[in-house]
Amino acid sequence: MRIESRCIRAGYTPGSGEPSVLPIVQSTTFRYTSTADVAALFDLTRTGFFYTRLANPTVDALEKKVAELEGGVGAMATSSGQAALFAAVVTMCRAGDHIVASSTIYGGSFNLLGASLKRLGIDVTFVDQTLPDAELEKAFRPNTRLVMGETLANPALTVLDIERFADLAHRHNVPLLVDNTFATPCLCRPFDFGADLISHSTSKYMDGHAVQLGGMVVDSGRFNWANGLYPEFTEPDPTYHGLVYTEAFGNMAFIVKARVQIMRDYGCTQTAQGAFYTDLGLQTLPLRMAAHSERALAVARFLEGSDAVEHVNYPGLESSPDHALAQKYLPGGCSGVISFVVKGGREGGARFIDSLKMTTLEVHVADIRTCTLHPASSTHRQLSDEQLRECGIEPGLIRLSVGLEHLDDIIEDVAQALAHV
Ligand SMILES: *Cc1c(COP(=O)(O)O)cnc(C)c1O
Repeated sequence: MRIESRCIRAGYTPGSGEPSVLPIVQSTTFRYTSTADVAALFDLTRTGFFYTRLANPTVDALEKKVAELEGGVGAMATSSGQAALFAAVVTMCRAGDHIVASSTIYGGSFNLLGASLKRLGIDVTFVDQTLPDAELEKAFRPNTRLVMGETLANPALTVLDIERFADLAHRHNVPLLVDNTFATPCLCRPFDFGADLISHSTSKYMDGHAVQLGGMVVDSGRFNWANGLYPEFTEPDPTYHGLVYTEAFGNMAFIVKARVQIMRDYGCTQTAQGAFYTDLGLQTLPLRMAAHSERALAVARFLEGSDAVEHVNYPGLESSPDHALAQKYLPGGCSGVISFVVKGGREGGARFIDSLKMTTLEVHVADIRTCTLHPASSTHRQLSDEQLRECGIEPGLIRLSVGLEHLDDIIEDVAQALAHV
């Protein structure tokens, strides 16, 4: 099946007389009739549902769908995108390990790696992803165990050269993990370019309607965890009678360990109801991604022609330094998020936002409603203009997430607000 059909059909195939729509299995627990059945589940010699923290039929259907969309061997849903990245990292890394990550990753991921995981003894070096290989090589250490970046970064909108970063990681015998939240598998499939793992915040385009938080870890099944650098996978796990993940599960070792060890112990579970909402969103994802991308490109072109705008950042524009990468990795569109700098600095930015009529002021992106944010008067308001510039944020910077209202309504609203700047 093509991706449009998979978004609708994958993950759940009802038998004769069963519900056509994915059922919400609202049950924390599952009944068994013999101790032998339950023992086999706990020994991991047989699969099945026994407690919703580990697996649930509704969540399982969503996981199977996303694994298929990305071309992976398996996936694990989590309570949020933050939980997905956390679970992915701690499945492979332990205290004393080191990560190389792009400096333009999402702020939440930047804090997770740079502050919270650092506190647990997992170190990180952030790199400028535009540097040549020879410079990037300097970030690697003997204890480096992971390379990480975002296909299309939130909100920097930089495009990761996935092939180059996969080669770089593989030269050091470590995997490349790509956060594919903004692109979604409709616009880019990182596994096709050599990535080994994918994480998602499904709270964005996958849900698409701003109703459900969620995350997903997807395993390509291609990375060799028995290469000598990952004792986590090759040493016996005493909590499963000395089971060795690579021996017991082969190319599913990563995604099985993520579930039976990390999800078991940390409990960052997606709910059945939440999986249902996310699955409902996924069914129209290809239509929405095409429409978001088309509208955003038109809005970006309009902004580029406006006298009230200093600069527009959208990789779909020929003027973007990442345009060539976008043509390679995002040929079907660059999704709906744009950033631009209005004239008049901090005050100009605030005046633009306060003059909008339809577009809403929200700390969210990537859903059906056009929404916007002015970092200098909201998320970063404690910083001076100089401090803002040090973070790469102009005082007049606006983030605009182009929704699915009529294009003319979106442009008319932006135009009338720009007239007040
Ligand atoms: C929003 C976002 C996250 C965090 O996801 P939550 O679901 O909000 O926890 C991670 N990565 C990217 C790229 C995001 O946009």
